[in-house]
Amino acid sequence: MMNRISLKQMKLYGYTGCLSEEKENGQFFYVSIDMFCRDIPGALTDDLNDTINYADVYEIAEKIVEKSHFNLIEHLAHEIGRAVISKYDLADSVRVLVRKPDAPIDGEFDAMETEITVSRKDVIIGFGGNMGDREEKIRTALDMIRNNHALELVKVSSLYETEPVGYDDQDDFLNGCAVIRTYLEPLEVLHELQRIENELHRVRTIKNGPRTIDLDILMIPGVKMDTKELTIPHPRMYERAFVLVPLRELGLYYGPIPEDKSVKPYKNTDVV
Ligand code: ADP
Ligand code: MG
Repeated sequence: MMNRISLKQMKLYGYTGCLSEEKENGQFFYVSIDMFCRDIPGALTDDLNDTINYADVYEIAEKIVEKSHFNLIEHLAHEIGRAVISKYDLADSVRVLVRKPDAPIDGEFDAMETEITVSRKDVIIGFGGNMGDREEKIRTALDMIRNNHALELVKVSSLYETEPVGYDDQDDFLNGCAVIRTYLEPLEVLHELQRIENELHRVRTIKNGPRTIDLDILMIPGVKMDTKELTIPHPRMYERAFVLVPLRELGLYYGPIPEDKSVKPYKNTDVV
């Protein structure tokens, strides 16, 4: 069951619209925001710090509407939703309705309106590496995820040691997987992970070769996609015991695992 905090029909002046006169003269917009939360501790404690302060939400929406000169109210609604969900961890999803009653269209109508929802999702990632101080690289990568405002590290598996696949003349890998919760879109998550990889000085040399750290998106419940840059579920995850074994540990995979004996629990258990 979801709990809800709402602000209805805020009347705000802004400059969003495709026509230049809309961008110059502006018009009134009516904005409604519904914030859905699994839990609102303030319902029990009666403390303002334990809930979403709707005066702050009003201000966020007001600033965005007043300052932005977007073309589309869809984008305006999305920007408001993003700003609200990124500020309030309590919100699992934020639904923003923007109405434009004076849209420049001939004819009789009540209002043009659009509704956009932004929500948090679980993203299951795999991580691994076999160069340098493997423990240190994994610890740093996980800390960088923890310190990223847009990403919440929910769960981490233990580590497993695996012999390399494909190219043998390299050290054993340390692998694991984790659950991240985020309001970012899948491609944005990939870019955040790649930024972390790059900061850890990953050098791309030989295919399937040595690497300091590899961060992959394995799956996102309810999401299937296949684009040039990103495929979800990860196309090779079902062939890789070093992915499936930690996933099974977290209760996220129950199917068969090829050669799972080649994946050994790692001795040091306090890396993650
Ligand atoms: P791999 O992870 O297969 O060992 P790389 O880390 O070098 O190989 O990834 C190569 C490319 O794979 C990346 O540039 C990325 O755009 C693409 N890619 C496609 N799907 C995914 C995914 N689910 N997670 C991570 N990268 C992906
Ligand atoms: Mg990768």
